[in-house]
Amino acid sequence: MKPIGNLAQNLRWSWNRPTRDFFASLDPQVWEEVGHDPAAFLGSISVQKLDELSANPDIVNRAAELERDLSDYLEKPQWFQSEFNNADKPSAIGYFSAEFGVTAVLPQYSGGLGILAGDHLKSASDLGVPIIGVGLLYQAGYFRQSLTREGWQRESYPVIDPDNMPLTLLRENDGTPALVDVPLPDHRTLYAQVWVAKVGRIALLMMDSDVVKNDEAARLVTDRLYGGSKDHRMEQELLLGVGGVKALRTYTRLTGAPTPEVYHCNEGHAGFMAVERIRELMTGEEHLDFGTAIEAVRSGTLFTTHTPVPAGIDRFDRSLVQRYLAPIEIPGVTTDQLLALGAETYEGGDPNVFNMAVLGLRMARMANGVAQLHGKVSRSMFHQLWPGFDVSEVPITSITNGVHGPTWTDGRLAQLARKHQEPGEHVNTYRWARPPEEGGVSDEELWNLRRELREQLVLDARRRVRESWLERGASPAELDWTNRILDPDVLTIGFARRVPTYKRLTLMINNPERLASILTNKERPVQIIVAGKSHPDDEQGVSLIQRLVAFADQYDVRDRIAFLPNYDMDMAQTLMPGVDVWLNNPLRPLEASGTSGMKCAINGALNLSILDGWWDEMYDGRNGWAIPTADGVDDPERRDAIEAEGLYNLIENTVAPRFYDRDENGIPRNWMEMIRHTLATLGPRVQAQRMVSEYVENLYTPVAASSRVLNGTGHQAARDLAAYKARVRSGWNQVAVKHVDAKVGDVATVGDSASFFADVQLGHLHPEDVEVQLLLGRVTSNDDLSGFEVLAMQAEHAENGVVSYRLETRLNNAGPLGYQVRVVPTHPLMAGYTELGLVTNAERAADNPETHFYFGN
Ligand SMILES: *Cc1c(COP(=O)(O)O)cnc(C)c1O
Repeated sequence: MKPIGNLAQNLRWSWNRPTRDFFASLDPQVWEEVGHDPAAFLGSISVQKLDELSANPDIVNRAAELERDLSDYLEKPQWFQSEFNNADKPSAIGYFSAEFGVTAVLPQYSGGLGILAGDHLKSASDLGVPIIGVGLLYQAGYFRQSLTREGWQRESYPVIDPDNMPLTLLRENDGTPALVDVPLPDHRTLYAQVWVAKVGRIALLMMDSDVVKNDEAARLVTDRLYGGSKDHRMEQELLLGVGGVKALRTYTRLTGAPTPEVYHCNEGHAGFMAVERIRELMTGEEHLDFGTAIEAVRSGTLFTTHTPVPAGIDRFDRSLVQRYLAPIEIPGVTTDQLLALGAETYEGGDPNVFNMAVLGLRMARMANGVAQLHGKVSRSMFHQLWPGFDVSEVPITSITNGVHGPTWTDGRLAQLARKHQEPGEHVNTYRWARPPEEGGVSDEELWNLRRELREQLVLDARRRVRESWLERGASPAELDWTNRILDPDVLTIGFARRVPTYKRLTLMINNPERLASILTNKERPVQIIVAGKSHPDDEQGVSLIQRLVAFADQYDVRDRIAFLPNYDMDMAQTLMPGVDVWLNNPLRPLEASGTSGMKCAINGALNLSILDGWWDEMYDGRNGWAIPTADGVDDPERRDAIEAEGLYNLIENTVAPRFYDRDENGIPRNWMEMIRHTLATLGPRVQAQRMVSEYVENLYTPVAASSRVLNGTGHQAARDLAAYKARVRSGWNQVAVKHVDAKVGDVATVGDSASFFADVQLGHLHPEDVEVQLLLGRVTSNDDLSGFEVLAMQAEHAENGVVSYRLETRLNNAGPLGYQVRVVPTHPLMAGYTELGLVTNAERAADNPETHFYFGN
């Protein structure tokens, strides 16, 4: 039946409740058996049953109705088309990512990065943002986790069958599969075919190296996510970056989709896209030179960093990258020139390393981190790339992550919400969470629903624990107890994430006796559900899981704590709505953002978290709890012990008493107040729609604007900018601030003007090449300036190659003030004055002792 097939083919079913309900209604049992996978579902029901369905007019009508709704969704103008009126908005955006978590059925993710990418595509689809996703199709995705008898993680790699997935092979007009090719060392070539997944309106291109034309080794390049050797990883990243650009070109050529003006490099893995785009421009009709090609490529690129830890950054041996870049032939460019793009040529850098984040930052017009705190951490982590500037000026901004509401809101909650909203009102605004006297949901309704969600989780957890024990070698006869573990009326805490050390899976068992007593408290019992995969090569992570499982296995606590193997999106969709409290205890500030707590918040679960990532900016004292951090305690064991103690105290003295504080109707009114506040205030803020619209407004659109200018006719602007940069770079060593002076002595009142003077030597450069800046701010105890303003000084006259500058400005602050004079490059085509990373500061201490002054009282 064609409409049903069409519904299965577009992954919008993964977040469109009516479509899912429709499939479930066709055969509930098979729907469960195939793990809620429409394609597998259609493959599993018998021909006879299918005929039966096609003969049923109700079903035929319902399918046609859903199909109309889908085509409506795909074609109707959305926010991007109708509300976002900006002449510079991009024609299209290529979004490159090593992982995409769209649904558990397409297991192409390991954790947060991938799920974020999936949510980004889905929200872009909802908003009508013209993104094309570019990624790889891994034959075995990440891995499936089970446990050994002793609680050690065991990995298996079930292979997917793309032919039975909602994917279409991209074909040439003659019907043959379209292939992209990437040159490899030793005269080999890596080929890949391109699968297209439809994520609502968005096409996601996934490259697959399992093709006959490849040699045996090349076929295995896309075998799994983050597996294998450095060579293997390198080949994957070449395919993603270089092959990804080729796949995009093939796709736009064959479908007529618009060519992207913006290239979004989601984390460093896709950084080699810049190399391919440089090659295109240099070997194309215009034969751009290397410098011009760099400017043209850069002008249309956005880089997002996702890690606050240097160890999380993708770094390769320079010699390895050299071997893989050598076969990429670009006339006029040496491999060394390409290698320089990712070289750690700064203080503390390693000359033998090629750094993918450095490549990403150097080749991007704009860059961002994924939460405010992460933006700050990133600016200081990459400060060495902009030496001489203040850390606050490092050009990395931030957009806080969000989650796709329709994917992560439990169906029953969405239903309840719809009941209490005005017609036409969006569920995502959370106005339905207002008090009942204003037409919102009542405490009773909401609390009953929260119990249902908890119960649904408890049942799911029991099933998973039982299955896990069967795999661990127990016999069904000894597993009766698993039907009685956990309790749908007990305060339920959830904790699930990948298991790198900094996330501290085992902080909760820092003092096992204390935790056991909290779990088994007679009046106010607590239960904890834990899940998480460790990268197989991370021995420490693997042993943390084993320690936790060993604790959970103990007879006296096993009713109250459960470890569920194989954390994935499917589990998350039951876990996060079902918990009362979501626990997150990373070592601050090592969590870039985190999104799992957001998925909880939109379902009315409360966060109990270290002030890190998104929680650092969104915790407000009423929407959950902040676990006190022992920042500054250097001994890690002592720090863990302090923070674990803080956690136990919070659970025991604050969280549990509030949860169990019931009125005569059995409702915890104070708890409900927090749920309501969470839904109403966090609900709208943690949406991926908010995130994607910020990307569009603050990053994609300005990047598109600069791309349009620099890639305009004949690439003249890119040539001009490249020539300017070359000239400034070569002349910069002659720039010097010769003398500075200030007249502030007779100024007495706030608001009075003061005068500043500077003599600057420019060498071969012209006054219009540079800006001479006055930094005016407070003097800190270590003689730095803080909270400074940056003011442009005016050139007055030139004599013997020295230009005199002057500035009059009001002094708006009193106290110990100071100033600094510096010279920076300036050009209307640059994103800002930090772009070249060049700055010449006046030498303060020796030549200009008078740069500090006291003003007012
Ligand atoms: C949301 C999610 C993550 C990411 O959560 P963090 O808060 O970043 O740890 C990882 N895995 C799954 C399955 C998820 O659903």
